[in-house]
Amino acid sequence: MSTQETRTRIVWDYAPAPESPDHVRLRDSYGLFVNGEFADPKDGTRVPSISPSTEEPVAEVAFAGPEDVRGAIAAARAAQPGWAALSGLERGKYLFRVARLIQERAREMAVVESMDGGKPIRESRDVDVPLAAAHFFHYAGWADKLSYGLAGREAAPLGVAAQIVPWNFPLLMAAWKLAPALACGNTAVLKPAETTPLSALLLAEICQEAELPPGVVQVLPGDGATGAALVRADGIDKVAFTGSTAVGKDIQAALAGTGTSLTLELGGKSANVVFEDAALDQAVEGIVNGIFFNQGHVCCAGSRLLIQESVADVVIGKLWERMGRLRVGDPLDKNTDVGAINSAEQLERIEALVAAGEEEGALRRTVACELPERGWWFAPTIFTEVAPAHRIAVEEIFGPVVSVMTFRTQAEAIEKANNSTYGLAAGIWTDKGSKAFEVASALEAGVVWQNTYNKFDPTAAFGGYKESGFGREGGPAGLRPYVRLS
Ligand code: NDP
Repeated sequence: MSTQETRTRIVWDYAPAPESPDHVRLRDSYGLFVNGEFADPKDGTRVPSISPSTEEPVAEVAFAGPEDVRGAIAAARAAQPGWAALSGLERGKYLFRVARLIQERAREMAVVESMDGGKPIRESRDVDVPLAAAHFFHYAGWADKLSYGLAGREAAPLGVAAQIVPWNFPLLMAAWKLAPALACGNTAVLKPAETTPLSALLLAEICQEAELPPGVVQVLPGDGATGAALVRADGIDKVAFTGSTAVGKDIQAALAGTGTSLTLELGGKSANVVFEDAALDQAVEGIVNGIFFNQGHVCCAGSRLLIQESVADVVIGKLWERMGRLRVGDPLDKNTDVGAINSAEQLERIEALVAAGEEEGALRRTVACELPERGWWFAPTIFTEVAPAHRIAVEEIFGPVVSVMTFRTQAEAIEKANNSTYGLAAGIWTDKGSKAFEVASALEAGVVWQNTYNKFDPTAAFGGYKESGFGREGGPAGLRPYVRLS
């Protein structure tokens, strides 16, 4: 059975409050950032980067071919001994400078991130950009204290790091990867995602402004073929990847037996568990933040909502009412809660899984809201009457779609939460501290939030178990993947 209900008829009129893009200093065309300079691709191409909210090109970008990849690795390799030979204090000063420059250009970077990727300006302005700066600040602080972060052991850098990031948090993921790598004395070749290369290219400009020694950071926009060439190229000592589990497995297979160090931050199907004793209004806000933040394009999204049966109707009622008030539309409007879906391909994937949910018998409700004519959009959606075997309960939808299941006892909640091939994150909503700790210890998840969700902090480790990958980013634990301990 499936239905589509109308939006709650409480009308909130907001005057549009668009952030102007006039102050943005984008070039018409960007080259590859290699050895401290923007250069034409040798065997690559140039393609436009399209805004998912307008379907208009934002800027043209060079895509790297295999020769470009080899050139970038050579530049990183040549620069690495000199970078590692600097004292930690000196490396830290460069990272501080990068962090300060991100702050100085924060407004511009937020607008570019929203234009290129479709996320609401409120999120890029208040989350992505400040957190990216915070990561550079945090690892700037570690650069001269590495042994304190590594249980007193002496550390040597691994060498050249190949870093591949996805399209859901383009700048933030670049910061998560570059900051610890550089703090530890590695040099890097960063490949942003095909649909969202622009903020990484602004970060390359910032590296220039910070007078980072040439070759310490390379930025190579490209598609999956560029990523595949990068991880297979000679001269790489470490690969750090964030993206889908399928590509993560492919990279792991390609690197098997090569001795190249690898960390993988992959997908998730995270459980957000609401107990009957929770503060329910607060939980509803957490559920909304857990699944509709960044259109649900979040690896740790709380996409499996587990509610204790005694309060399920109340929570679902409150949630549905709250969903009706979410404003979907122009990412540059400061009122917008849910922006554009990142690409036509991603929209297709969401639609296919939602159709599967309906076919398998779950009950679908999608808020009825006006969506812009151009661009790629998906209105917030809730599925109830979901069975654990349904595809929407098992597979990562990576969109604004929550699948609700219920449980009766704490043991059942734990069993259902752990019934996943993934193990990235989880949320627990309860008034009882002892219950929260007991459940958190039993959950197979790298990050467990209590009475909150999607809180990120540079001092805290983030990463998964099972098919969500291995290795940690953030905090002192984030130094470990970039060093050889003696
Ligand atoms: P991918 O895993 O394909 O993309 C992640 C990054 O890897 C991108 O930079 C991509 O480049 C690059 N890449 C693609 N193929 C290869 C390869 N063979 N070798 C090396 N690098 C490669 O994610 P998709 O964009 O295809 O999204 C598919 C699904 O993955 C989503 O629906 C979502 O479920 C999940 N996903 C999970 C993310 C997470 O944070 N856990 C992030 C993104 C997606 P390019 O962009 O050019 O393809």
